[in-house]
Order: sequence, then C-alpha cells, then structure tokens
Amino acid sequence: MRPDILNPIFAEVNTLDGVGPKLAKPLERLGLSKIKDVAYHLPDRFVERRAVANLDEASEGEQIVIALTPTEHRASRGGRGPYRVLAQDAIGNICALTYFGRASYTAKKLLPPGELRWIAGRLDRYGDMLQIVHPDHVAEKADTLSDKQVEPIYRLAEGLTQPRVASLVDQALDLAPELSEWIEPGQADRGGWPAWRDALHLAHRGPHEKARDRLAYDELFANALALMLVRADNRKRRGTPLRGDRALRDRLNLPFPLTGAQTRCITEIEGDLAQEAPMLRLLQGDVGSGKTVVALEAMLIAIEAGTQAALLAPTEILARQHYETLRDMARPVGIEIALLTGRDKGKARESILMGLLDGSIDIVVGTHAIFQDSVAYRNLALVVIDEQHRFGVGQRLMLARKGKTTPHTLAMTATPIPRTLTLAQYGEMEVSQIDELPPGRQAIDTRVVSTGRLSEVADGVSRHIEGGQQAYWVCPIVRESETDDIAAAEQRFASLKARFGDDVVLVHGQLRPEEKDAAMERFASGEAKLLVATTVIEVGVDVPNATLMVIEQAERFGLAQLHQLRGRVGRGSEKSVCLLLRGDALSETGRERLALMRETQDGFRLAEEDLRLRGGGELLGTRQSGEEAFRIADLEQIARLLPAAHDDARLLMERDGGLTGTRGEAARTLLYLFERDWGVQLLRGG
Ligand code: ADP
Ligand code: MG
Repeated sequence: MRPDILNPIFAEVNTLDGVGPKLAKPLERLGLSKIKDVAYHLPDRFVERRAVANLDEASEGEQIVIALTPTEHRASRGGRGPYRVLAQDAIGNICALTYFGRASYTAKKLLPPGELRWIAGRLDRYGDMLQIVHPDHVAEKADTLSDKQVEPIYRLAEGLTQPRVASLVDQALDLAPELSEWIEPGQADRGGWPAWRDALHLAHRGPHEKARDRLAYDELFANALALMLVRADNRKRRGTPLRGDRALRDRLNLPFPLTGAQTRCITEIEGDLAQEAPMLRLLQGDVGSGKTVVALEAMLIAIEAGTQAALLAPTEILARQHYETLRDMARPVGIEIALLTGRDKGKARESILMGLLDGSIDIVVGTHAIFQDSVAYRNLALVVIDEQHRFGVGQRLMLARKGKTTPHTLAMTATPIPRTLTLAQYGEMEVSQIDELPPGRQAIDTRVVSTGRLSEVADGVSRHIEGGQQAYWVCPIVRESETDDIAAAEQRFASLKARFGDDVVLVHGQLRPEEKDAAMERFASGEAKLLVATTVIEVGVDVPNATLMVIEQAERFGLAQLHQLRGRVGRGSEKSVCLLLRGDALSETGRERLALMRETQDGFRLAEEDLRLRGGGELLGTRQSGEEAFRIADLEQIARLLPAAHDDARLLMERDGGLTGTRGEAARTLLYLFERDWGVQLLRGG
C-alpha cells in the first residue's frame, strides 16, 4: 500500500484549481497525470532578465525589464504583416513592440499610448530599429515584474501557457509533504543537498544545481534499488530450462550468413535459456546490426522446447513491421505467428486469444496489449522486448506473471548507451553486444549543408526520387511548443507537396494512430517517396529503399538522436546520404556535434562524445531517446551521480534487505514516489 503521506500528491491533476476538461489533453501529452508529476515538471531553463533604466544600457539579444511609454500604434498595410507599437524609453530612445497574428488584440489593450508600462522581453534588432517581439510581460507597475527577473520556462503542450503551468506548479508544491530522508546522511552532506521538499521548491525557483542534483539522485537511487530488488527476486524464481533440438532453426533459410557477433550473442542466449534461473539479458546492438534475427533464433529455441514466445514492441507500427519481418523470415520453418495490438477487436482478437491459450500460436508479436489481463498463454517461456528503454521494468514483470513459471527475458535496444551508463538502465541484466555490422554495408555519406541552400537540397531530393529511391525529411523539434514544431513541419510539408505532389507524406505526433500508420504504410510500401516528419520517425522503422535523410536545423539535435535518425538510412546495399542542414548561428558545441557526425558512424563513440559535449553548460539540454527511463536525471547527472546512487542502494540492501528500518521505510516511500513500487511488491511476495 502506498504510504498515506503521499496521498495528497498522488491525487489526479484535475483536482487542482483551474484544471478542467480543456486542460486534460495538454497535461496528458506532457505526462502529467498526478499532482506529483506536476511538482516534478521541472523547468527546462530559466530566463534571467536584467532591469535596465534605458535602452542604451541593454545589448541586443539580452533579456531585459524596462519602462517604456508607447507613442504610436502601427498596423501593417493590409493587416498581413506584424502589428507594431512604437515606445519610448526614459531618455527618448525608440523601440518597437512587435506582435504577430491575433496577438495584436492584446497589444491594443495592454499598451495605450502615453501611459508608462513595464515590459519584460528579449531585445532584438529589426533593420535599424530595436524591437521586442511578443513581450513576455507587460505590467503597469514595476513591482509586478520584480519576481519575474528569474523566470522558469516550462515545457508546454498545445493549450497550455507558461503562467498556467506556473500556477499549477505552485499548487502542487503547496501539497508536497515533508518526507523523511532516504539518502544516506553522509552522501547528502557531501553534496550539500537540501531535503526533498526544499529541493523541489528550489528547483522551480532558479537554476539551483544542488537541488536538481538531489532530485536526480533520488530518481537514480530509486531505480538502482528497484533493480536490485528485481534481481534478488529473480534469483529466487524458477523458469523453464529451454533446450532446442535445432529442428526449427535448421529449416530457417536465411539469405545471409550470420555475423560473428550475432552467432556469439545467440550462443550466450542459448546458454541462459538452458538454465532454470530465468534469463535477464540485454541485447545491445547499433541500428542495423541485425538484432531481429537473433531474437528469432532465441524464439525458435523456445518453440523447439515446446513453449511459446512473445515479442513486445513499443508502437503499433513497429509491432506490425516486426510481425511481417518475422513471418517472412520464418516462412520455411512452418510456425504460427500472430500480431496482437490494441486495435484488434471482436472476432479477430478472440481467435488470437484462443490460439494463445490453446498453444496453436507459437509467437505473438504486439504492443502492451499482449499483457493485458484478458490475455492468457498456454506456455509462455520467452519474452523479447524491443527497444527496452521505452518500457519500465514493471511492465516486464507483468508479462513475467503470465507464465506458469517465470519466462526468460531478452531485452533489445539500439540505443548506444555509453558504457558508463549501462549499469544505470540495465543494472539487473547480463549484456550481449552485437558490436559488428553485417558485411557489405556502405558508410553513409554525411554532409553538413547551410540552410541557405535549401532549394539546392530540394533539387537533390527531386533527383533522388526520380532515380527510384526514397527519402526522409526531418523537421526540428523546438520543444517550447510542440504546436510550433508541428506548424513548421506542416509548412515544410506544404512546400514540398507543392513540388512533389502525392509523393510526399507527413507524420507527426499529433496525428491519430490510423493516420500515422496510413502515412507510414504508404511510405513503407514505396508508394510515397518522401516522408516528412518531426522526430517521431519511429526507432526501428526499416525501409531499405530510403537512402536519403535530410535533417533540418541539425544543430538542435543531440548526437545520439542524430545517430538514431541517420540510422534510418544505410539499411540496404545502396549508397546512402545524410544531409545535415545547419543554421547560421552555430554554437561551438553545435559545430563540434556536426563534425563528429561526419567523422564517425560508431554509435558508442557518438554516445560517449555526446555525454562529453553535454557535460559543460548544457545541463538542461534537449532530452533524447534512450533517456526516457529517467524523467528527472539528465545524461550528465546520470554519469556523475549514478555510481554513488548504486553504492548507496547496495549498502542499504545489505543492511536492510527487507526495507523495514527507518531508512528502509523512507526508501519504500521513495519507490512509490517514482512508481517503482513493483519493487516493494516483490519484497512482500518474499
Ligand atoms: P536492428 O538491429 O536495427 O533491429 P535489423 O534486425 O532490422 O537491425 O536488421 C537490419 C537489416 O540487416 C535487415 O534488413 C536484416 O535482414 C539485415 N541483416 C541482419 N543480419 C544480417 C547479416 N548477418 N548479413 C546481412 N544482412 C543482415
Ligand atoms: Mg530493430
């Protein structure tokens, strides 16, 4: 049972003031379902503004607070351009306050000519005029803005504004209780860390590194502890030893010989499966390294041993793709493979459920639908989880309960986690690595191109398509507003569609799953030639004929993410090209990232470099795939704090493995807080 003290912050967000049905969707998009999620919705960054007496004191690009008196309102001719309010500072300098679109209504209301106003925003230049585009705040009195000089900037979703999120956060923080300390006292002292509740408050108030560290540490500690509980529990469990007779595997008629690395991984898995202790193994291999066939061999062993296997994919698109690949590869073997997703309803679903129950289905591929309560297996002995990082271990355990005995688990990931971090995410697993790509793969020709040459790039795409091949076009994610990103993608899509017509499809996060699937399928089948997407291009999507990747504003992406995206091409034997479009204002780090992308295709190297580059100054940088397991801790914090968190957890387990002492109790609360409470349930199960 969850400790009572957590109840106030485990209430649903809609119990907060001002949360009606309208906010349900945006909050859900941000993953904020409980009040504690809101409290943990830490600012992406802070705007620090300087109060200046006049414009001479400010520099371009600076965030300022300044008193200005509007002198004149200028609507653009025809009403199509921006709406400008000219305003004067204390010594007569003029600055334009610029508004686009419907925001001009606000301007008319807030900025009456002749009346002094306090303005907060970023000073820019437009031609020879100073301007502030969409001021962040306009106030009649200076003191209204005094607490806005350091202001948190939160990640938003359509329908939410910064002030709205800030007000929800305030309410959530008021509800946060004081909790007894779970961190080893010496550790907290060394870091100079505030107590949990204080840390939460501080982290929202300003760039308070110690508070952020403490909260990140909590998450890492909770995870380490939960994984140790799993491991301890797994040691006590019994699985079914699986020994195959090769009957099925011998019938596999692969069009290629396995690589040495694949063979080695299969041998390692085979060794684990033969044991009674349930396997917990991670198969790590870069994009395109050939993990699927390794998974298939493992599943065939399970079937040879008279049991069933399940493959869990993170999305419907991937589930479908895996299903089709496996079905094609396994055709000569003569086994029954089924696809089960949340969309299957009625008769079709019934017959699959029947087949799983009576054992006539050997392999089921699907999304989380395959471990709903209504799904029962005759004899499930192996679970393969693709893109493991998308799932919590908790879900894995739910699946594990499906078998008569605990199934063996093989988790696969293409995320090249730096070696230093493997422990963090997969602390409870053995690791097999496919550290070699299939032969004959050509290096992807990676080039950095200035955005100024966009039309040449479009010409290149056109020639590419005329040559019979396909291409991806990735639009950047700017994060502050997903709406803006999608607007940008839609705009790009529209301009490309004007040129390429029906050959282009668009995929982004706000499409309905059916629309997304339909677009993906048109592209996968080769009917559409160009796929325009925000970063939602699913990890793992495999279209070998797509050999050109264009990434706009590539400098905005982290290295690991660029690597994942680039991995969508170079999957066939044709030469592939990746064009990284860069903006003009390139930071040193941005420059270095793009250079590294050109230099290497080694995912592990890129992951390590990514970590190094992000070590300094980019603490609050864009979150990337592979980090989803942690919501609070970023990559740099994981690398820096994990070893201590791991040791701390181990020490606690040694002293108080049942988590019954004072700190043990506090640690249980922590596990609930981070929804790692399946760890506690394992404890109770003894
Ligand atoms: P990933 O590890 O990214 O999941 P896949 O399993 O999708 O990689 O394999 C990528 C491609 O490489 C597939 O088209 C697959 O058929 C092919 N492939 C896998 N193993 C080999 C091999 N040993 N030799 C040649 N091609 C291979
Ligand atoms: Mg794959």
